[in-house]
Amino acid sequence: MNVFGKILVLTIVILTGSAALAGEPMKAKIVILATGGTIAGAAATGVQAGYTSGEVGVETLIGAVPQLSELADISGEQVANVGSQDMSDEVWLLLADRVNTLLASKDVDGIVITHGTDTIEETSYFLNLIVNSDKPVVMTAAMRPATALSADGPLNIFNAVAVAADAEAKGRGVLIVINDDIHGARGMTKTSTTDVQTFVSAERGLMGATLYGENRYYRSPYRTHTSASEFSVEGIKVLPRVDVIYISAGVSPDLIDAAVDNGAKGIVTAGVGNGNMTGDALQALERARAEGVVVVRSTRVTSGTVGRNVETDDDAMGTVASGELNPAQSRVLLKLILTKTDDPAKVQAYFNKY
Ligand code: ASP
Repeated sequence: MNVFGKILVLTIVILTGSAALAGEPMKAKIVILATGGTIAGAAATGVQAGYTSGEVGVETLIGAVPQLSELADISGEQVANVGSQDMSDEVWLLLADRVNTLLASKDVDGIVITHGTDTIEETSYFLNLIVNSDKPVVMTAAMRPATALSADGPLNIFNAVAVAADAEAKGRGVLIVINDDIHGARGMTKTSTTDVQTFVSAERGLMGATLYGENRYYRSPYRTHTSASEFSVEGIKVLPRVDVIYISAGVSPDLIDAAVDNGAKGIVTAGVGNGNMTGDALQALERARAEGVVVVRSTRVTSGTVGRNVETDDDAMGTVASGELNPAQSRVLLKLILTKTDDPAKVQAYFNKY
């Protein structure tokens, strides 16, 4: 190389370096996977309660937030477009496959998933258990449809991308960014049917908070998740059936028998108090246990834990106590556990670990 060639190479190196020094580092590459929900919902006017979920596509969601390009290089994919009341094992398996494939690529730094609020606590916990990467996976949603006056979706998407592009979000499991809060997947639940401030992480608190993309983190996940998890759905086409039975005073015990007769491999009870239920319901669960059905006692109460052998003799019944997991998240965990074991002692150990 002659002296002019050397000067040219040096000039390019200096210019490239000065771009980085000038505060223009490589932007994170974030993929937005859209699944529907109110965030993609539409109504005839901006001020009405009635609307249809999953009407707007991923390109429109991204187009509504031009500021995203300041945070990251963005691409989008439509995985589904449903109200999350219709979220299913099929979509979960599709999403799991897409998330794990994308995160295995060096060209993807993080993922944002847009979703309905109704079952986001289930999808996020499912992904928290089967994603095989420490890269950020951030879910977001909205309580107001895209067409509403003061729609909350666009800022939630902005904040979700800001967290997904943040190196500090790595290794914290699947996160849900909504209404300026950062929740961990485990333990978050929807508490209001219509309020914008609906999500609460009652037992362990928020994972962090964000304000126009300025993120703060308060804690790390307290249970095993993502890359350290033993669960995988690779090659699995169907997940075992698990039914949730809501317990009330005078509950009809034949609901439990019906679940067993219809092929449930697991039952989660949304019990009263500390996972309690009527004597008749306990007898129905004994019949279920005799058929080899795994029974997890959770609670319809919105905070606190369900402990082993408190008012129900789990050791004698062969039942499992859900600890802090609510019925919906207990169902998710039990479906995955049943791909490995139906031994109640091992199931309890999984509930204690995940
Ligand atoms: N039903 C809607 C859904 O879960 C509610 C929402 O997204 O806020 O898709």
